[in-house]
Amino acid sequence: MKIEYFTTLIEVQSLENYIHVHLKKIDYHKKRISDIEEKRKNAKEDLNEKTDKLSILKTKIKKDEARLYDLETKLSKTRENMKVVTTNQQISALEKEIEVLVPQRDSLEENSLEVMEKIEILETDVTELEGFLNGSEKTMQEIKTEVESNIRDEQHEIDNYNERVENLLSLIPPQMCAVFKNVNKKYKYKNPLTFVENNTCIQCSFIIERNLSSSIEKGTIIELCPNCERLLIPHAARNSS
Ligand SMILES: [Zn+2]
Repeated sequence: MKIEYFTTLIEVQSLENYIHVHLKKIDYHKKRISDIEEKRKNAKEDLNEKTDKLSILKTKIKKDEARLYDLETKLSKTRENMKVVTTNQQISALEKEIEVLVPQRDSLEENSLEVMEKIEILETDVTELEGFLNGSEKTMQEIKTEVESNIRDEQHEIDNYNERVENLLSLIPPQMCAVFKNVNKKYKYKNPLTFVENNTCIQCSFIIERNLSSSIEKGTIIELCPNCERLLIPHAARNSS
């Protein structure tokens, strides 16, 4: 096995690390869209919830207003009656009625004010949410166009790197290439290659036997770390790269 083959694999790993950077950039671009979509989804849910609450409160306030009107009518009728009744008994009966009606009216009035305040707040929220949804729809279209173009650029870089990787892999013996590809199934973008330093695998710290490590350094065999199963590379390959 030529040392240069191992050097080629180091080059492949480094190109794949670049590919990984571009893939992460693609994820970042995609996240810009998914973040807005998430915010819009939440805003829509919020809007529905608030619209429902608003319609319930509006129905309630209508009923309260009707009841308030009834109470006021009753009160003024009672007060009118006060003017025409003659006996103390009649007066005291009407006074009792007023005593009952007034707190009812007052508490209903107070409640209505609270409900109206709630309605006002909800209406402001609904307007804001609708504004956000309309605005963000336009922004999202713009960002989508931008993101698609960014992704195309990243993909173009990735395609170039992949082509270089394929070219490099075609330069090494098929058997070695197959071993690398197999290791890469597990460790693509996570350092499929490793070295022995201080008698240990630098990736997983597993102790490598001296016999094995000296064969590796000679570059005569293709071996995997017995523990993490990464491809072991002779130091000479790194120095010549
Ligand atoms: Zn290892």
